[in-house]
Order: sequence, then C-alpha cells, then structure tokens
Amino acid sequence: MNFITYPVNTKNPGSIIPIILGIQWGCRSPNNTFTVFTDRLSRKRNQVFDLEGWLDINELHFPDILQESKLLFSSFPKKFKSQINIRIHEGSWYRCPCGKVEFLDEAILSESYRKHLKLIDQHNQCVLCSGEVVLSQGRGLVVTLPEPDPRFIGLADIKEKVFPASVYQEVQYWINFFAGRQILLSRKRETPYRLIYGQEEFYIDPTLFDILSTFISGNTTDACIVTGRDAIIAYALGSLFFDKSPGHIFLPRFEIDDWNEIISQGIDELTILLVGTLNWHVNKVRPNLSDLKFIKKHKPALKEKLNQMVVSTIGDASQFSRSLYML
Ligand SMILES: [Zn+2]
Repeated sequence: MNFITYPVNTKNPGSIIPIILGIQWGCRSPNNTFTVFTDRLSRKRNQVFDLEGWLDINELHFPDILQESKLLFSSFPKKFKSQINIRIHEGSWYRCPCGKVEFLDEAILSESYRKHLKLIDQHNQCVLCSGEVVLSQGRGLVVTLPEPDPRFIGLADIKEKVFPASVYQEVQYWINFFAGRQILLSRKRETPYRLIYGQEEFYIDPTLFDILSTFISGNTTDACIVTGRDAIIAYALGSLFFDKSPGHIFLPRFEIDDWNEIISQGIDELTILLVGTLNWHVNKVRPNLSDLKFIKKHKPALKEKLNQMVVSTIGDASQFSRSLYML
C-alpha cells in the first residue's frame, strides 16, 4: 500500500502522530511506501516545532518522505467526475470581513456543519475577526457537486475504503449533506493557489486545494490516507469530486497535554507508546506516559512484535492497539 497524508503543518507537533504511524506502516515494510505532503502555508502554533529537524534528530532518513504538492490547479478540473460542473459566478455570497469565511450555500450555516467548521460562532460571527458573516458581491469560481443519486456519489465503493468501519456512517452523512450543493472554489483574498479559468484569474481556497491535490496524488489502487477523524468532512467532499477515492485510515484524536514530553521521547519508545494508545472504537485517546516504564523494560520484544505486524489492507490496521503490550 502507498500511505500518504493530507498536507501537514510542519510547525505543529501534532503532525507527528500520522507520521509515526505512517512510517511504521509504509516505511518498515518492503511492499509499502509512505509520503508526507507538507503544507506550504504551515504556520507556527503555540509550541516551537520543526518537522524536518525532528525527523533528522530521530534519524528518520527516508528519502523524499516529505513532499510539497507540486500539482497545478489548472490540471484539476480535467480529473473531476463528469457530473461536476464548474462555472464563474457573478453575484453575492457569504463572507466575513477578514475573508477567512466565504461560502455560497446557506446550508453551511446549519448547526451540524457549523459545529465542524469551527469558524463561525452562534451569532454568525467569524471566530478569527469577530466580524459578522454577511452577503457580499463578487465574482468567483463555483462548483456544483453531483446530485444525491447513488450512481453518482459512489457510497458503496467508499464503504470498503474507510477504517475503522464505524466512521462510515458519518462519512455517508456528509456525502449526502454536500451532494448537489454549490461550493465556492475560489477566495476573494489572495491564496498561493492561482488558477486561470476562462482567461480570468482566481485564488483557490487552500483547504480545498489540499483535499483535491491529495485525492489526485492518491489516485492509485492501493493508496491510503492516514489522517485524524477531523478529516471526515474532507474525505466526504473529495469523494464527491472524483470517480475513485483513496483508502482512509481515520486515527482517533490524540489528546496530548505536554508536547515537549512527547517529542523528546526516542522514536522506538514513542512509536510503541502511540500504537499502545490506539483504540479504534473511540474518537479520542490519551497516551499514558506511565506506560513508558514498561515499554523501556521490554523494548526489544515490543519492537520485534511490532515489526512483524504488516499492513497489506486497511483492515490490518486493527492489529495496532493496546494488545501490542501482551507479550
Ligand atoms: Zn473573519
């Protein structure tokens, strides 16, 4: 299998969670590969972190593991489903003063979506600029997603591609939510993703760019995205754009209080700790640092056991859990 990531923020220590597991699944087995796509817009978080430096310190020298998406947006529309319709929209849509929030379809204001978007509060205000989201005039690029017809939205195909199977219902909910809707592809603000369409220049939304470029990169039969559960909406959206979707392993959210403590662990200890923390039946997990004592004591045996666990299909990810500690 070829494991990949959505573009990760290289300045956020949280990026190491899918990377450690991706390395274990993709780089430790001769039949698999692993590529980490990095986000060009990586922004500093509260902690000081540098992914490349961390890989260096831990001697994780896998050539070309870090890659910036080189896909050009101009090549995207040709790869979309034939039912996808792109057009230039002249008119009004919702926008906040800072431009972070921009959308066309009023359904985006619905409670369920707002909860996930985390960009608009209860009073329709942008959480970044506190400005109200109001209708404003503009000219943008709009995509109409396929109708909620089972033939076009490929739900049956997707069921086989997500792990754990329990996320499927939520994926299905979001596919049905977006099917037939109009999505604003472009942004009024300048983004690094410029597209000339009909001899006009548009700036593509970075989040959509990340989703679409990852789906195009993962357009091989055995590609699999390693990601957190937050990416369920991204997956639902991506699958509406393309005939073929990559596999997805959705990791539970790792709740970490002290990132410095985590990133300062040796790579073997950390890999074993994260695998031992995995629980595919829940949405959130919290590594227990007191496990490290046991891990250090039995490191050779745990490492040996781990190296015998190979992921050839997405279902094989189920072996990776606390049962690792049962020696
Ligand atoms: Zn704003």
